[in-house]
Amino acid sequence: MTDIMLHNSATRRKERLIPVIAGQVSMYVCGPTVYERAHLGNARPAVVFDTLFRLLRKQFGAEAVTYVRNFTDVEDKINARAAETGRAISDLTDETIVWYLDDMGALGVLEPTHMPRASAYISEMVSMIETLISRGHAYEAEGHVLFSVDSYSLYGRLSGRSVDDMIAGARVEVAPYKKNPMDFVLWKPSSGDVPGWDSPWGFGRPGWHIECSAMSRALLGEVFDIHGGGNDLTFPHHENEIAQSRCAHPKGEFARVWIHNEMLQVDGKKMSKSLGNFFTVRDLLDQDIAGGVIRFVILSTHYRKPMDWTARKAADAATTLGKWGALVTGIEPAPSAAPEVIAALADDLNTPGAIAALHALAAAGRHGELKASLDLLGVALPDQRSNAVADETAALIDALVAQRAEARAARDFTRADALRDAFAAAGVIVTDTPDGAQWATGPNFDPAKLEGVA
Ligand code: AMP
Ligand code: ZN
Repeated sequence: MTDIMLHNSATRRKERLIPVIAGQVSMYVCGPTVYERAHLGNARPAVVFDTLFRLLRKQFGAEAVTYVRNFTDVEDKINARAAETGRAISDLTDETIVWYLDDMGALGVLEPTHMPRASAYISEMVSMIETLISRGHAYEAEGHVLFSVDSYSLYGRLSGRSVDDMIAGARVEVAPYKKNPMDFVLWKPSSGDVPGWDSPWGFGRPGWHIECSAMSRALLGEVFDIHGGGNDLTFPHHENEIAQSRCAHPKGEFARVWIHNEMLQVDGKKMSKSLGNFFTVRDLLDQDIAGGVIRFVILSTHYRKPMDWTARKAADAATTLGKWGALVTGIEPAPSAAPEVIAALADDLNTPGAIAALHALAAAGRHGELKASLDLLGVALPDQRSNAVADETAALIDALVAQRAEARAARDFTRADALRDAFAAAGVIVTDTPDGAQWATGPNFDPAKLEGVA
């Protein structure tokens, strides 16, 4: 089996993946806060970690991989949105979760093994906070419980910052009851319409960070293999998860390998809800950009590099996938993805390398392996015939493709060129292969343009 090498943000090195339990892999990824449609930036970690999940399943066996991705459904932004719109919080979060799963499903993202909702793990969070207090890592002050960063000497190690640097650089919430301004909230009081639960510290709700520590422990244990998320979460969220988990369970190591995807950007700035520079995955799907095209564009950039979405990239991806669709429609996939595609993915998820290998497979006529490799990457090809094109249109195109072959054979280049131009105008991509001409529909498919030439 090919070794899987991953860049571990905690050690800043590429390392061979050696699972805690031989032959099994466990992975936790921070999922979305659910009050709004996912934007394209949110789709990047979903696609990147899904691709890793697929690679791990291929290498270790589907049953051997446990992947947890949570839903943050307890959060002040959710409360604010519910209050603004006069909706019940659970309506808002339930609806957003359905949207998220639909939109990610359209991108070929498989459902993780477990998708815990924070609201279902409050008692685990409360007991973890109690443990932290009893071990001297947390303290109660004015109805809040705070984690004491001075109680954990390795605080800041993941992000490579000292506590003093963090205080200088971060927008820390100053509060008179904090012993150190970097101390962060584990529990806070709730009143009015804000949701809350009974606890030893009164009616309240958890801070954000504790949920991932509690849910990963409940579902994966005190040590697991991979923890992922966007690099915007390194500090403070992941730093705080590490501090909580390692102080509550000093014998466990928590996550061994940390993987962070870089940001999807718009004009050099992170796409984010707060900057308002976002568009949703649904916006793109509604513009008839296929999910497979969106996924292909995301995978065209390595996950550790910033990337931009451009219309040009989407159009190029649609053309490429249309051509490959024509090559592989109706053929049997090979039993496995091509070794060079697996090798690229196993090298720190080198998806641009894997895509370069796909182009080489197409050029070499290795169509069965191309099909199996696209499956491994989770990239769906536009379905040329069954969905997208009505039967009579497909029959017309088949007939015109046959006429083009006849015209060429008869050296009737006027007719062959007229057909070629008509295909181009109608957005039908015709590719000559050793098995004869294959066709697929491109992004601007318009069958009406074929009528004149028939
Ligand atoms: P949120 O719903 O904001 O908590 O984010 C959910 C996931 O999306 C987290 O793993 C974030 O790191 C990630 N994320 C948010 N914005 C971007 C972006 N512009 N590019 C890539 N990942 C992002
Ligand atoms: Zn998290």
